[in-house]
Amino acid sequence: MKLLEKATKILHNYSLCDYCLGRQFSNLATGTTNRRRGMAIKEFLTMNAVTQIGDEDLLFLQTLSKSGGILSKNTLRKKDNIPEETAPCYICQDTLDLADNIVDMVVPNLEDIEFQTFLIGTVLPKEFHERERELKEEFDVLPTEFLKQEFNRIIGKKLSERLSVTTDFNSPEIVIEVNPISSEFDVRIKSLYIYGRYMKYLRTIPQTRWPCFKCKGKGCDECGGTGKRYQESVEELIEFETIRIVDSTKGVLHGAGREDIDALMLGDGRPFVFEVISPRIRSVDLEKLQKKVNKYAEGKIEVRDLRWSSKDELRDLKGSAETTVKKYRAKVSFENAIEDEVVTKIEKFFTNKEIDQRTPHRVAHRRADKIRKKIVFSVEFSRLSEKMMKITITCDGGCYVKELISGDEGRTVPSISGISGINAICEELDVLEVRKNT
Ligand SMILES: [Zn+2]
Ligand SMILES: [Zn+2]
Repeated sequence: MKLLEKATKILHNYSLCDYCLGRQFSNLATGTTNRRRGMAIKEFLTMNAVTQIGDEDLLFLQTLSKSGGILSKNTLRKKDNIPEETAPCYICQDTLDLADNIVDMVVPNLEDIEFQTFLIGTVLPKEFHERERELKEEFDVLPTEFLKQEFNRIIGKKLSERLSVTTDFNSPEIVIEVNPISSEFDVRIKSLYIYGRYMKYLRTIPQTRWPCFKCKGKGCDECGGTGKRYQESVEELIEFETIRIVDSTKGVLHGAGREDIDALMLGDGRPFVFEVISPRIRSVDLEKLQKKVNKYAEGKIEVRDLRWSSKDELRDLKGSAETTVKKYRAKVSFENAIEDEVVTKIEKFFTNKEIDQRTPHRVAHRRADKIRKKIVFSVEFSRLSEKMMKITITCDGGCYVKELISGDEGRTVPSISGISGINAICEELDVLEVRKNT
C-alpha cells in the first residue's frame, strides 16, 4: 500500500495528531521530526483533495480537520464550510502537548543535583501502548517506534536544551522516570564508587554496620536505643565525611573480604570500594576527602589510595575475595610448653599445605555448613614465652585462621593444635597483608 493511501485509510478511521501520524511513517525519511512528517502528510493530502474537489473530497477535508490539519481547516473556511473541531488524538490523547509542562515540572527538582548525563524513561498506562500496537497491526505499519520513545526523545531534547546536559543510554548519571498522565516523576541518581584501602587500629569495630540482634535496628533497651550492636564500624567511619561532601544520605562499604571484629587490619590495608548512594554532588577532590575521613576517624581507622572506581570494579572486587592471599599475625597461647623442635616441625609441615576446613562453629549460624579446601603457604613462629608464640601465617583468602590454630574440635584438619599435640588458642589476630593471588 502506498504511503498516501495508507495515511488516508488511517485518518479515515482515527484522528491522529501530527506526532502520532508522522511516527507511523518515521522509517521513510530521516532528518526531520515525526511532527513535521505528520504535518507534511496532512498538508499533502489536503492539496490532493483540493485538486479533485467533490463531495467525497470535502468530506475528507473534514476528516483532516478533525485530525487537526490547519491547511484543511483554512481550505474549508474558504469554501464556506465550517471545519470540524479537532478531536483528541486516538493514540496519545494529546498528551504529547504536555511535554513542555513536564519539563517545567521536572527542572526545579534537578537544580541541586550535579549531573552531565541523563536518561528519560516514560511510563504510560498500558492502554496507550495497546492502542498503538493494534493500529499498527490493522494498517500493516512497518515497525516504527512507539509513543513512549517519542516522549523520551521530546522531553530529553527539551531538557538537554534547557540545562546543557546530554542523553546517555548506557550509563547516565541520573534517570528521570516521568508519567505524563499522572504528572508524577521520579529521579534516580547513579551511585558513586570510590576505591581505596583501609587500615583498622581497634579490636572493637566491625567492618560494616551491625544492627542490634534484638530490635533489628529499631532501638531497644539492649542497645541503648541506638539500634546498633556496635556503635561504630569501618563503614560508618568512612561514611560520615563522605556523605557530607557528596550530599548523600548513605554509603555502603564493600570490602575485599573482611577481618573479625577483634582483628586489626594493618600493613597496606584491605582493598575496598565505597559506594555512595544518590550523591547530589559528583565532582569531589578525593585527596581532600581522604584527609577529612582520616581526620575524623583518627586512631580508629585510616584510608589510603582513594581513587574513582566503578560498578564493574566492585563486582571484580567481590569476586576476588576468595582468590587473594592473606598474611596474618597471631598471638597464640599453648596449653603446655611448646618445644623448639615441635615449632620447626610445624613450620616445615605447613609449607604449601592443603587443609580441609569445615564451616567453624562460631559462624555456622550464618554460613552454609560445608568443607572448604584452603592452602596454607607458610607459618613462621617467634617465641614470646614458654607457652606463648607469635605466628605469622600466609594463606588463601577465606581461610579461617583461628580455626587453623585451634583445630575447631576436629573441624579443621590438619591444624596447629593437631600437629603439635598441644591445645592452642588464638589470643589476638591481625591482618598484615591482603594481595591478589598471582
Ligand atoms: Zn498523538
Ligand atoms: Zn536494640
